[in-house]
Amino acid sequence: MEKKPAAETESAAETKPAVKTSPERKPAAEAKPAPAAKSDRPAGKPEPDETTETAAPEAAAEAEGAEERMEVVALTGVAAATVVIDEDADPDADAEGADAGDDVGRPIDIVQLYPRDMNIYGDWGNTLTIVRRLQWMGFVPRVHDVEVGGPAPRRADIVLGGGGQDSGQAKVYRDLLERRAWLQALVEIGTPMLLVCGMYQLFGRSFDTIGGQQLTGIGVLDVHTRGESDRLVGNVIVDSDQFGELIGFENHSGQSFLGEGVQPLGMVRRGHGAGNNGQDGTEGARVANVVGTYLHGPVLPKNPRLADYLIGAALANRYGLMRVPEVDEPYTEQTRAVAVTRPR
Ligand code: GLN
Repeated sequence: MEKKPAAETESAAETKPAVKTSPERKPAAEAKPAPAAKSDRPAGKPEPDETTETAAPEAAAEAEGAEERMEVVALTGVAAATVVIDEDADPDADAEGADAGDDVGRPIDIVQLYPRDMNIYGDWGNTLTIVRRLQWMGFVPRVHDVEVGGPAPRRADIVLGGGGQDSGQAKVYRDLLERRAWLQALVEIGTPMLLVCGMYQLFGRSFDTIGGQQLTGIGVLDVHTRGESDRLVGNVIVDSDQFGELIGFENHSGQSFLGEGVQPLGMVRRGHGAGNNGQDGTEGARVANVVGTYLHGPVLPKNPRLADYLIGAALANRYGLMRVPEVDEPYTEQTRAVAVTRPR
């Protein structure tokens, strides 16, 4: 497992880029989901120092109408900030048709699945990217780490999961199965999710590891994976109808095969990667607002259209916002310009 980046010394304000306000704002990601009904998921806490909540995983699928409880969330590694949420505030009040400019201070709850075991090749940077972009847009991101046997938060506006070793996946998959009903319900109300590599495999139907274990997945994605002795490793470029050119890095023994009719995230550009299995050219998988992919690197800093798609779905679901504030910063294009030239 890789360690999370050390807490940054700069403040979010110091790095804050310009955020354009309407009418220049670009439309949100192309496949903007319809705003979904609110989901009052069971309350929980990510880490002892992050919230005041506790909830057993089994409780996560129940507890509709769970009591509203105050959360105090430390944004681990992000501007070393502790954000205290006003428990009396109703974040959904007068959200109907609201404009993002009116939403400074509104929280967005981000669930990070198993960062202890499922976080390699920079995947924690996906969380950091979502957090930063939301801060730049004027929202208040709250990160909830969900670990094996640990609590889950009451609300989940975005769900993120990273890659890991087969052994890490073996540690978490049973716990994930216990959370299947909760996660499936979130999928059904349009919650945006990004699952990378190891967690992508476990959101599929099953993963037969090279070591002979069969890890049952939660079946959100109709995908089967089997481990092979030749690892698929290298820089990747994917062409996606929805997100354009996606840039990332892959390293997996698992070869994934999509069920009939399952939409891939995109197609690997010839000579620029293996993707799901090195055979059919597909990369990743889509269902509802769920994105599964083999792209590490991490993927979101280099692919802001994908990041803003996830954010856009979250803002639509929680606040009825139909546009994502445009973040105007130079770093992404600089990063992409370098990354795209890297040899396979
Ligand atoms: N252990 C899985 C595999 O090798 C996932 C690897 C990863 O997450 N990078 O296929």
